[in-house]
This record gives sequence, C-alpha cells and structure tokens, in this order.
Amino acid sequence: MAFTLPELGYAYDALEPHIDARTMEIHHTKHHNGYTNKLNAAIDGTDLDGKSIEDILTGLDMTNGAVRNNGGGFYNHSLFWKVIAPEDRGRLSGPLKDAIDAAFGSKDGFAEAFAKAAGTRFGSGWAWLCKHDGGKVEICSTPNQDNPLMPGVGCGGTPILGIDVWEHAYYLNYQNRRPDYVKAFIDIINWNEVERRYEAS
Ligand code: MN
Repeated sequence: MAFTLPELGYAYDALEPHIDARTMEIHHTKHHNGYTNKLNAAIDGTDLDGKSIEDILTGLDMTNGAVRNNGGGFYNHSLFWKVIAPEDRGRLSGPLKDAIDAAFGSKDGFAEAFAKAAGTRFGSGWAWLCKHDGGKVEICSTPNQDNPLMPGVGCGGTPILGIDVWEHAYYLNYQNRRPDYVKAFIDIINWNEVERRYEAS
C-alpha cells in the first residue's frame, strides 16, 4: 500500500501574502511529491511496506538514509500544510493554551521561542512544538527532514506544529529573510488543528 501525496485542503494562492502561490505549488507538487515517490520506492518490497508512516519513523533505523530523508519529508510536509490555514484558524485556547502558558509564559512567549528555534536552525531543517506525556509542551528543532518521532534526534514527544525552514519554503518571496517568513507563518497558524493534535496525542 503506497503512500499518496495529500491534498493541501486550500488553493495554492490562499495563503498570500504570507506564503506566495508559486512557492506553495512548487513545494507541494515537486518537493513533497518527490519525497512521497522516493519513500514508496525505498520501502517497496521491504518489511516496512504496509506500515503507517508513524510506525516507520518511530522504529526507524537511522542509517537507512532513503527512508529517513524521504519518510521524514513525507510526514513533515503532510503536517506542515495542515497546521497553517487561510481561514477558520481559531485561537489558542483550552488545555493547549494552559500548556503553552506554563511552558512559555504566554502566546507571545511561545512565538518568540518558536521564532528563535526556527531562526537559529543552521542550514535546512524544521522547528517543532511537541507534546510530551502528561501534556507538557516543548519547542525544539531538527536538521534536514528529521523529526521528533525518529529515535535519538534530541527532540522528542509528538510533533503538533512544525515549520519548514528549508530555503525552498520561502526563498522566492523572502530570499534570505527567514525571520520575516517565520513571523508570517506564525500569523497563519491553524490553532484549531494544533489543538486537535494536542488533544489526540
Ligand atoms: Mn519543504
């Protein structure tokens, strides 16, 4: 059972001016599609074939570069499209708000810490908000297409929010101005979805 490229759930231009249509289209149809196809090729005929992506990543042999890079790329982008949205984003509330306030003092404190993690990730990678057992939340970052589900990446728990800071995610519109892209991303976080993931994990 091969993995398939998920739909965004909104139009490529729906996130403008925060993220431009051309970037969204290339990111989805070229980058995410490429990870999806290469993941399928890497697991075809192996004992990973038929497992869920979560099971593949949590039990990953980190020396398996093809599955690490493309399985990470498939999972990370599938999450990325859902945790931002053009509308009906809701607002931070409930148990997730309590956890964020406990960890960062406030929503502004969270935004500052998240922007710092995204801004200081050298080269390509991701910054994450993760939920740990008991409900505590933590911000961390990973290089390349690694993610907190993978063993031994120094960043654990269940990812409930993630930002792609590879240049392909922002370069056409923001060039080298990663902090401006991160700020725009934070403005379009789909809190309804992040909260749903917090409560489901
Ligand atoms: Mn990407």
